[in-house]
Amino acid sequence: MKCEARAFINSLYLFLQVKLVNFIRRNVYQSRCFYCETKCEGRENLTRHIEDHQSSNSELPDRTIWDQSEYVINTFLTHVICHRIAGFCNHY
Ligand SMILES: [Zn+2]
Repeated sequence: MKCEARAFINSLYLFLQVKLVNFIRRNVYQSRCFYCETKCEGRENLTRHIEDHQSSNSELPDRTIWDQSEYVINTFLTHVICHRIAGFCNHY
């Protein structure tokens, strides 16, 4: 029973980690800082901006921002699935 409870808790942490990673990936894909939502021109500027946050030990955004159901599914995977469905629908 203890192992089942631990496995369940670990799966919850994994679920939260997936949401956080997808939140970060989506923001970076949109050239947006995931700490403060500032839009940056180009990846180099975004990287420097994020490094400034990291060097000043900025805290990640509040959990209420990234702990959303929209971040359960990987943005890129969703894009691939939609693209394939659109292609399938155009084929028939
Ligand atoms: Zn920022």
